[in-house]
Amino acid sequence: MSNLPACHFFPSEVLEREAHRREDGEWLDRQLSNSPRFIFVWRGNNLFSVGRNKRPLALEVPDPEKVINPIFLGIQGEGAPLFAANLSDPQSEQDALALLYLNTDLARFIPLRQFDGLLSSEERALLFYSRSLTHWHEEQKFCHRCAHPTLPEQGGHILACANPDCATKHFPRTDPATIMLIHSGDLCLLGRQASWPEGMYSTLAGFVEPGEKLEDAVFREVKEESGIEVKNIRYFGSQPWPFPQSLMLGFFAEANSKQIIRGAELEDVRWFQVSEAREMLVKLASRFPHLDTIARRLIRHWVEASM
Ligand SMILES: [Zn+2]
Repeated sequence: MSNLPACHFFPSEVLEREAHRREDGEWLDRQLSNSPRFIFVWRGNNLFSVGRNKRPLALEVPDPEKVINPIFLGIQGEGAPLFAANLSDPQSEQDALALLYLNTDLARFIPLRQFDGLLSSEERALLFYSRSLTHWHEEQKFCHRCAHPTLPEQGGHILACANPDCATKHFPRTDPATIMLIHSGDLCLLGRQASWPEGMYSTLAGFVEPGEKLEDAVFREVKEESGIEVKNIRYFGSQPWPFPQSLMLGFFAEANSKQIIRGAELEDVRWFQVSEAREMLVKLASRFPHLDTIARRLIRHWVEASM
């Protein structure tokens, strides 16, 4: 178990973010007039086509300059600009679709976790990116220092307070969370929350606290949830998880002991044999088949290294 590889399964090559050009308003305006495509989000739901071949939709619109608060995502291959936009005003899905000259026979706004079609890893990366930013725009409509409205800057990657006496610039939030596969010989430690489907277990996870190292967060969370102390904490890989704004940081660690003292957060936590963990992978894959998850990646790597 000493050679579990690091993992980079979440694609980063789906577009150039061009972060250094976001300050150039004229350049951004040119991107808006260069047949951009938009990933629209309404109330946290992404836009998908309906019918047999359900796909996420990135739309060209007749008047891109009229889209309210476009958020610049980046440039795709061949120089195609891609934006996100949060449709927060329409009260109903029908109204939101009508703004885009669509109806429910053609497209639906669906919660990303409930989408039941297939996604490529590139599509998933773009949907995660746009969902994170539109969620932040929804949450940061007002300055939390002085309660004045905020206005987008730098292609929507900054929301600046409109009150000149305050002028606070707000930046998108990403909340780090650790997720870890704890093992001991041919056993691994999995837990379940009461709200999960019956019989489903997964890796332990928890948010990093202010002033805390990632390794200390792994140690603390495992101890809180299972009573087990761990050693040899090793980084595995990361995955954005925009529900609403997490970055999951995956680790492996070895247990110092096997005796479990379950904490209050989980309904159950127990040791799994390799064969049981492999069966659990099938169950986990049935929950969010289109999203992939770092939990599945961690368990799969451990199962494969243990066989
Ligand atoms: Zn303010």
